[in-house]
Amino acid sequence: MSDDCIFCSIVDGDIPARTVAETDDVLAFLDANPLARGHTLVIPKAHHEHVGDLPADLSGAVFDVVAELTPRVQAAVDADGANVGINDGAAAGQEVPHVHVHIVPRFEGDGGAPIHAVAGERPDLDDDELDAVAEAIRE
Ligand code: 5GP
Ligand code: ZN
Repeated sequence: MSDDCIFCSIVDGDIPARTVAETDDVLAFLDANPLARGHTLVIPKAHHEHVGDLPADLSGAVFDVVAELTPRVQAAVDADGANVGINDGAAAGQEVPHVHVHIVPRFEGDGGAPIHAVAGERPDLDDDELDAVAEAIRE
C-alpha cells in the first residue's frame, strides 16, 4: 500500500471504481478515461510500480486475470479484437506508478493503430547490433 497512490486507494475502497473482476490478489476495473468502450485495467492489489518488481506468483495471478478477462471484455462490447499492454516507466507513458495492464478493445475501422505504433523512430540495426542486444539481455 502506498499512501498517495490512486490505485491503492481504489483497492482500499477509498476511491470508487467500476470493478469487473476480483481475486484475492488482483483487481480489474474500467478505466475512468477510456480509450475505447470496455477499456479495462488489471492490477495487483499490492503496490508495485514496475512489472519487473512483481514476484512471480503475483505476475502469474495478474496475467491469469488478463487472459480470462480479455475475451469477456471483447464480448461485452462486441469488439473485434483488443490491445493488451503495460506502460512501464514514465518514458513509456506510465502516469500511475502502480503496475497495471490495459485491455483496450478494438473495433474494425476504429482508426486506431497496432502496438507497433507506440515507439518512436525505428532503429536500423544490423546483425551484429541485434546479436549484441540479444547478448546483453541474456547476460
Ligand atoms: P498509464 O498512463 O499510467 O498507463 O495509465 C493510467 C490509466 O489510469 C489511464 O488510462 C487513466 O485514464 C486511468 N486512471 C487514472 N486515474 C484513474 C482513476 O481514478 N480511476 C480509474 N478507474 N482510472 C484511472
Ligand atoms: Zn499503489
